[in-house]
Amino acid sequence: MAETDPDLYAAIVAEEKRQRNNIELIASENFASPAVMEAQGSVLTNKYAEGYPGKRWYGGCENVDVVEQLAIDRAKKLFGAEHANVQPHSGSQANTAVYFSVLKPGDKILTMDLSHGGHLTHGHKANFSGKFYDVVHYGVSPDDECIDYDKLAEMAREVRPALITCGASAYSRVIDFERMSEIAREVGAYLFVDMAHIAGLVAAGVHPNPVPHADFVTSTTHKSLRGPRGGIILCKEEFAKKIDAQVFPGIQGGPLMHVIAAKAVCFGEALKPDFKAYQEQVVKNSQALAARLASHGFRIVSGGSDNHVMMVDLRPKGLNGADASHALDEAGITVNKNSIPFDTGTPMKPSGIRIGTPAVTTRGMKEKDVEQVADFIAEALASIGDEAKLHAIRDKVFAFNRAFPMPL
Ligand code: PLP
Repeated sequence: MAETDPDLYAAIVAEEKRQRNNIELIASENFASPAVMEAQGSVLTNKYAEGYPGKRWYGGCENVDVVEQLAIDRAKKLFGAEHANVQPHSGSQANTAVYFSVLKPGDKILTMDLSHGGHLTHGHKANFSGKFYDVVHYGVSPDDECIDYDKLAEMAREVRPALITCGASAYSRVIDFERMSEIAREVGAYLFVDMAHIAGLVAAGVHPNPVPHADFVTSTTHKSLRGPRGGIILCKEEFAKKIDAQVFPGIQGGPLMHVIAAKAVCFGEALKPDFKAYQEQVVKNSQALAARLASHGFRIVSGGSDNHVMMVDLRPKGLNGADASHALDEAGITVNKNSIPFDTGTPMKPSGIRIGTPAVTTRGMKEKDVEQVADFIAEALASIGDEAKLHAIRDKVFAFNRAFPMPL
């Protein structure tokens, strides 16, 4: 590529350098293993395989059938699911297939508000889910910034939704799937859990598993699960045919067999004992980082973290998420600006940042290391507007991060 497409090659080399140098705290990102990358860069990218193992529309599928069956069997084992569809190209497409499989346009859905931690595909007005369905949002309580299950149950009785969506992009507490399922059953709604963020924790038994409680569970494979970019759907056997037909031919064409192979590698890795130790460390790191940031005077939404992510309210420091994430970029630390519950800022200048520990934990950081990261964050955010100071911090950040190599 360096010879045939030097411009593109240079951009990829620059990105590799950025990933190697910077401290990666985006909660939805991670570093996939060399084996995941190898599968994704394999000849499987050349193959069309519309259909499912043993039932394809194309010839020459004998090898990709083995690949997809391995991915399916491992996903089912990992999460204790009756059925798995490993073909969704993304988390959003997995969610689309679930909605389309059991809802009609105009049906009522009860979902978590984006500004309280939900995802765009949970009924946001700019997303198909907000356009096709009659959406009512629940959120967190103003008292403790956690999901208020009693209030949610009341809303469900009033709204009588066809489906309840739960799972989040920015929620740092354990979600009680058993309670969610009781609420859904009481009102005759389907329960759909989008565990995209916490799937790795669930796989390792570090967060309760939604699979026994929900009708449908979706996930991305690239966040805490540490696989390739993509999605999966898990469901009870009774919905298997509907889900499979909705993925193909419903909303997708040919599956990305190279990505499915990489998902199989990822599930295989997640079934190994050291994955549990990794996920336990992700949570320990999240808690240590949150506590250290709090000791620097930052307010952690809901007072802490039970999982891989924390939301930091910057208002006590007189800052907003946009200025903070920009300053942290200058200091070699990558986070994202994020709304927090009951935000008084705007979507472009929200009051918070979201911080997650899956990626730094993959690079080998432990509690004392992420405490140092919290110190860098505090120093950088006290230096907003002072480029020279931010770049001096960046030199320290790069030197510190060199002790934690990327898995390449
Ligand atoms: N669901 C949740 C909870 C997410 O956080 C995300 C991504 O951030 C998605 C779904 C969508 O995944 P993708 O970006 O693969 O479409």
